[in-house]
Amino acid sequence: MSSQTSAIIDAYRRRTVHSARLAQQAVEVFPGGVTHDGRILEPYPIYVERAAGPRKWDVDGNEYVDYAGGHGALLLGHNHPLVVQAVAQQLQRGTHFGACHQPELEWGRWVQKLMPSAERVRFTSSGTEATMMAMRLARAFTGRPKIMRFLGHFHGWHDHAAFGVASHFDGTPTPGVLGEVATNVVLAPPGDVAGTRAVLDAHADIAAAIIEPTGASWGQVPVLPDFLEALRELTAERGVLLILDEVISGFRCSPGGAQQVYGIRPDLTTLAKILAGGLPGGAVVGRKEILGLLDVAEAAATGREKVPHQGTFNANPLSAVAGSTTLEIVSESDACQRANEYAARLREALSRVLRDERIPWVVYGSFSGFHVFTNPQRLEITAAEIEAGKFDHRVLKAPAPKSLAMKLRLGMMLHGVELFTWPGGPTSAVHTNDDLEQTADAFRQTIKLLRAEGEL
Ligand code: PMP
Repeated sequence: MSSQTSAIIDAYRRRTVHSARLAQQAVEVFPGGVTHDGRILEPYPIYVERAAGPRKWDVDGNEYVDYAGGHGALLLGHNHPLVVQAVAQQLQRGTHFGACHQPELEWGRWVQKLMPSAERVRFTSSGTEATMMAMRLARAFTGRPKIMRFLGHFHGWHDHAAFGVASHFDGTPTPGVLGEVATNVVLAPPGDVAGTRAVLDAHADIAAAIIEPTGASWGQVPVLPDFLEALRELTAERGVLLILDEVISGFRCSPGGAQQVYGIRPDLTTLAKILAGGLPGGAVVGRKEILGLLDVAEAAATGREKVPHQGTFNANPLSAVAGSTTLEIVSESDACQRANEYAARLREALSRVLRDERIPWVVYGSFSGFHVFTNPQRLEITAAEIEAGKFDHRVLKAPAPKSLAMKLRLGMMLHGVELFTWPGGPTSAVHTNDDLEQTADAFRQTIKLLRAEGEL
């Protein structure tokens, strides 16, 4: 990508002088200048100073409609007043007691109330830790070594989840992951009942299947409820545990997550993001007898060895009060529905722009998510077909040409909209009609700029 020849990049550089300066310093501190792979952006990412509701402002004073949404954590937008109040009060009382506390109990009760499959709850510090523990519990409970994952599905960055998400679809490990770990993870084709049955039949030693219930990467590659139902049956028949990874979908698709909408009862569920109300936190929840492996007495009573689990920041009081406050609002308001409705209207508005401008991209998604598929191979493809599960990760996760992907995000930023990396985003309950109009207009203007640069 040549910065000399791009009006989009030149304009971005002009608007983001302070970000550029910070980004220059950051490469001396952080590998690649960033603290999360999702923040990689050329020529450099923006530095954000503050946020409120559905918007945020960078260090140069530029305002953005925010579709990063705290990586999906902020269903209620930035700084919901009740969440801020709860955290501020807790700050006065203490941030870490190194002891049990009432806010963690209230938080756990909210999880049980909203998600009936959560017979027991164990808090962790992140979604990654939650899926790691869910897999370990499944192995310990069943005495079987293998985990079945689905091609393209994301479950965090630990060793058992690191490959077969955006690359290494053949199941080989990404750098630093042991081959021995990878051989104990089997990758199955999501949406394909026969293919999944064949994988289960070929491996009698699978402890658990883990899946993102709305499809890989928050529905970027959708799976349908029929498939989840079939998976529930296939796993139950074989004594394989079913782990629904609701780190992003939990308390978002509906107050009870995707499992409530689809009527699927998993053995274990992993949670994070909205769970902790915008602060760090995760949980593995599920059947009492499985979580019982974390209980000294219960493990002993069943003749098993306890699964050890520590974690300095498990259920820390700040996350606990932010989480309880958020879950209460989710339970008692129409927050999930509002975020879902906004996303549906946004998908429609962006699709209209594509039709008007005759661009063969597709905007699609489910619940409070939207994805922009830039269709690098110019396939005849519609949102309805994608949403019906007709295309797999090879099509929908095929990388867009790098300069197009970057310039799309930069172009949107020039018009005051920040997309998440897919590109697309989770929406919130506080995005407004103005946000929607601005987003659609930014999309139209960006397409014009991309066309002028010969990217389309
Ligand atoms: N599972 C899913 C479905 C996720 O979306 C994520 C985070 N994007 C994770 C697990 C990992 O969670 P965390 O980033 O909190 O480790």
